[in-house]
Amino acid sequence: MIIVTDGKEICAVCKQEKSVVLCNGCQRPLCESCRKFDIWGCGCSSGYVKVFCDDCNNDIDVNPYRATSNEV
Ligand SMILES: [Zn+2]
Ligand SMILES: [Zn+2]
Repeated sequence: MIIVTDGKEICAVCKQEKSVVLCNGCQRPLCESCRKFDIWGCGCSSGYVKVFCDDCNNDIDVNPYRATSNEV
């Protein structure tokens, strides 16, 4: 589930842009250029979208589906 912010907080990654969403891993506000999307699910059409910062996106504990998300 994507948590949308009201834009009052500044992105915690670049500290320049207004935030648009919260990271699903660490709950930090992220702007449009710093957010990373990943599809969670079984690889069929029932996947759902997660939003992560760069750190969480690469953290296998936070984003265990990352390793399989590139498979077709
Ligand atoms: Zn940013
Ligand atoms: Zn994060």
